[in-house]
Amino acid sequence: MLVTIGEILVEIMATTIGIGFHEAQPLIGPFPSGAPAIFIDQVAKLGVPCGMVGAVGDDDFGRLNIERLAGDGVDVSAISIQPDIATGSAFVRYREDGSRDFVYNILRSANSRIELSAAAERLIASADHLHVMGSTLSIPAVQTITETAVARVKARGGTISFDPNVRKEMLGDASLGDVLRRILAVTDIFMPSGDEIFLFAPADDPAQAAQRLIAGGVAELVLKRGAAGAQVFTVAGCVDGAPFSVNEVDPTGAGDCFGATFVVCRRLGMTADRALAYANAAGARTVTVMGPMEGASTFAELDTLIAERSQRA
Ligand code: ATP
Ligand code: MG
Repeated sequence: MLVTIGEILVEIMATTIGIGFHEAQPLIGPFPSGAPAIFIDQVAKLGVPCGMVGAVGDDDFGRLNIERLAGDGVDVSAISIQPDIATGSAFVRYREDGSRDFVYNILRSANSRIELSAAAERLIASADHLHVMGSTLSIPAVQTITETAVARVKARGGTISFDPNVRKEMLGDASLGDVLRRILAVTDIFMPSGDEIFLFAPADDPAQAAQRLIAGGVAELVLKRGAAGAQVFTVAGCVDGAPFSVNEVDPTGAGDCFGATFVVCRRLGMTADRALAYANAAGARTVTVMGPMEGASTFAELDTLIAERSQRA
């Protein structure tokens, strides 16, 4: 069983490009979202048993998420329904330069009530792999739960994947920085994106940073590079994964679907090369549709995209 812990929210997106939410404007949503939720939905779509620890409110935003996750095959038994607090939400609008403005309600949403309930204990007890999303650790209660789960999964011989998904500001919080470094120390598959790697290993370039982390004990490091594809570093060297050329509509969720696909493929015993091809295809498919979870893929869909590319080549 592959398990993750963390935030569930709805995403409501501005349909026009511009700066923020200062005036009434067309919006589209709610879309099911939350980085760990996107990750685990992608795992389920690949047909692998999986579950999530989380919390939603007793509202349509919560029901929308639970219905999607359960419908795609995620074990939702450890997602609690909180009676008196709303499901998390994020309003997002893209600017001309590709950057984004957000209005978040996460820390004071149902996500603040994520707890080690009896159902969460059961799910974690059945996990042989745990995925940690760094962004989730900004919810104070989840830091302890995550560290407890990491220790239990490791103690029974399970494995850990870790996507930092952090902003520099988060590392300024000294205790969070410590938690992230402790988790990195027991991580089997580390999946930073772009310059994020320098937050864990200052260096002149990403390859040098990756080598330092490998030397420090990370078994496998996957560097996500947006439209440039991705690379896998191990003690054996570096494998390059070419990107798929697609029309980017909405990049949100690409990293999560990519990471889920890479972890699933490696756990199924595929080579790093093959796992990278599937993960790049999953990331590419995600960006072609509006909504963070809407572009999650089945193996059949990934095979189609990979076959199309090799026909063109
Ligand atoms: P996010 O946190 O927004 O979900 P991320 O920063 O963690 O994303 P990215 O590097 O943006 O991760 O994207 C993950 C993967 O998705 C890339 O390594 C690549 O394989 C694929 N991908 C992303 N954007 C594109 C694109 N425009 N064209 C093709 N593939 C893409
Ligand atoms: Mg990311």
